[in-house]
Amino acid sequence: MHKDKKTAQASQQSIDRIFTVPEAPDSSLGRIEQAISQNLNRFLQEHIAATERPLTEIEKDFNTASVPENPTFVSEHTEFLLDKLVAQSVHTSSPRFIGHMTSALPYFLMPLSKIMIGLNQNTVKIETSKAFTPLERQVLGMLHNLVYQQDDAFYDRWMHSANHSLGSFCSGGTVANITALWVARNHLLRPQGTFRGVAQEGIYRAMKHYGYEGIAVLVSDRGHYSVKKSADILGIGRESLVSVATDENNRIDIAALEKTITELKAQNIKPFAIVGIAGTTETGSIDPLDKLADIAEREGCHFHVDAAWGGASLMSDSQRLKMAGIERADSVTIDAHKQLYVPMGAGMVLFKDPALVSSIEHHAEYILRKGSKDLGSHTLEGSRSGMAMLVFSCLKIIGRQGYQLLIDQSVAKAQRFAKMINTHPEFELISEPELCILTYRYVPERVKQALSLAKPDEIDVLTSLLNDLTISIQKRQRESGHSFVSRTRLTPAAWDGRTTTVFRVVLANPLTTETILEEVLAEQTELALQSKGAYPALMEKAEQVLLRAQVKRP
Ligand SMILES: *Cc1c(COP(=O)(O)O)cnc(C)c1O
Repeated sequence: MHKDKKTAQASQQSIDRIFTVPEAPDSSLGRIEQAISQNLNRFLQEHIAATERPLTEIEKDFNTASVPENPTFVSEHTEFLLDKLVAQSVHTSSPRFIGHMTSALPYFLMPLSKIMIGLNQNTVKIETSKAFTPLERQVLGMLHNLVYQQDDAFYDRWMHSANHSLGSFCSGGTVANITALWVARNHLLRPQGTFRGVAQEGIYRAMKHYGYEGIAVLVSDRGHYSVKKSADILGIGRESLVSVATDENNRIDIAALEKTITELKAQNIKPFAIVGIAGTTETGSIDPLDKLADIAEREGCHFHVDAAWGGASLMSDSQRLKMAGIERADSVTIDAHKQLYVPMGAGMVLFKDPALVSSIEHHAEYILRKGSKDLGSHTLEGSRSGMAMLVFSCLKIIGRQGYQLLIDQSVAKAQRFAKMINTHPEFELISEPELCILTYRYVPERVKQALSLAKPDEIDVLTSLLNDLTISIQKRQRESGHSFVSRTRLTPAAWDGRTTTVFRVVLANPLTTETILEEVLAEQTELALQSKGAYPALMEKAEQVLLRAQVKRP
């Protein structure tokens, strides 16, 4: 816009302009658009600064609590955004940022997302979405097919049927899990005789009618926190989410599950949903889904599989074998914004039985009329974007075989990284990658030696010092901004359930190379040696243990 004018003016003309006239191509916005479409990676590389500025400092750039009184020129505002927001954001698509489930995106999504925003369809109802409604139903059909592999006749019959739904498209795995458990709860506490169902009369009257002391959801202690949120929102309370112990491979312990079910039933608490995890968030582990399906069937309870992260692995013939039994689930959560390489805001829950959603069906007079095909009658969310278009585009452009390649590559890379860690004298693999997530920690050789000779109370101290060191390395690595791994806390059986802080790595970015992985380990080793508090304390304790052990040796 016009830099010669000092301030922008609010006028009818300027309002008309922002809704019609595009910025001149030589404006900063125009230049950004050009740079992004030419080479997005270079643009991000150039504009995201590797700054060590702490968040409390960054907050000072965003401390104005009043709506700006006067308008601003678009160019001026754009400069501010580049400087204060883009520069101080996280380079999630960097091949060196291997700590999160967010990775690089295919380039074609950039221009396509502009079409999506330009069209601004609202998929809650057909009136504002038209072709986007059958498109979304088709995407749900494709993902349903990926999980349940029904025949053509099945999809011909149900995909576009008004009173049925193969799934529910939503903003992510959290809402997908809530939706699945909502369906399960309403199905269990459905209308019966004079009781009009939990959806109508609420949880209190439902309990009285069915004569339960409570109802419970069962999931392993690797379960995602969204399952706990669901229990809270569904009015059954977070305590009704019962955590079941895991085995040494971070998979649900079936014997512990059986014991929990027996205990709950003895208290007249009905287990109404068993949640299996196909790819846990922390370790990527897959629960024994077939066994869970058997138990759910026997107990007459809903079987939900949380495959928010791992579901995309079904695209690969070889990875699919690891998820045997997923096709027996009543519902399955899959996030497209994780391993389907779609931008954030795309989750789905799929239902084996297309009639199951009737238990959460809602109608309203002005939209979502009975018998209409409006998607909003089967979703928790109301207004939603045409995000299904981007999922559809990825599925079509990449194809099943393309995804198979991507997924298999990620798994192979994780296996090579695990080998690298296993053969490195100063690192220790904590969880083997079943898919492409693994966890590990830095343990200097002398400490490894000390651990092998230490008494239980000495192991406690060493573990706690190692935890401090892991935290210190991870923080320093994040702050320096070159690379990023995340961290979590596990209780590996190999350490008698001692809480162990570990580095967590997700190898989904196709641009991450083995050289980068070697560099990540090298940087971590260097950061460990630089650590002023944690490293010396750990080494001192290790030497003490070694001295003590050697003295006592025969
Ligand atoms: C990521 C994830 C979720 C939550 O998904 P959001 O898209 O973050 O809401 C749920 N379950 C598992 C296993 C996940 O990995």
